[in-house]
Amino acid sequence: MDNDIERVLYSEETIKEACQRLGHQMAHDYQDKNPIIVGVLKGAVLFMTDVIREMDILAELDFIDVSSYNGGTASSGEVKLVHDLSIDVADRDIILVEDIIDTGRTLKFMQDLLKERHAHSIKVCTLLDKPSGRVVEAKADYVGFIVPNEFVVGYGLDYGDQYRNLPYVGVLKPEIYENK
Ligand code: 5GP
Ligand code: MG
Ligand code: MG
Repeated sequence: MDNDIERVLYSEETIKEACQRLGHQMAHDYQDKNPIIVGVLKGAVLFMTDVIREMDILAELDFIDVSSYNGGTASSGEVKLVHDLSIDVADRDIILVEDIIDTGRTLKFMQDLLKERHAHSIKVCTLLDKPSGRVVEAKADYVGFIVPNEFVVGYGLDYGDQYRNLPYVGVLKPEIYENK
């Protein structure tokens, strides 16, 4: 799997430091709020499990799955709810945990859903932010790294549902796409 990677953008060590920084910040901001920390499947799973271990506060965990990519490298533009939350978000403080924000469509879809359900507050924590990809307005409150406009994989992020289990974030070799 390592052989398919052209270069590493964020190493395990660098990601760990980001998880500590963001986790400590959120723990400080959400003390006594008992937030619901919502991981967006499947990409945010690795990041979420690392970042929550840096938060020494009471919190509930939940998951949502929305899809817009259909497994390729370009967004289809349409966002669908694939798996819903199990906790009622009304009057609760929500932290959405994402792997990456690109066009912003996925985030906008989830924020609209949570507002409709009367969440008290909604904040967003993302490992990666790709502001150059924005199509709709979307902002993260806690950001690990700003990424250049490149397709990245690893640490939860996939290409054709593969590479999620790489412990770092990197760029795939061009021949991987070209061979498809
Ligand atoms: P958005 O709706 O903001 O365009 O896209 C969000 C989703 O698209 C992310 O959660 C992720 O699944 C996927 N995505 C966007 N950019 C990348 C990328 O560079 N690499 C990978 N693997 N997925 C991406
Ligand atoms: Mg995602
Ligand atoms: Mg994907």
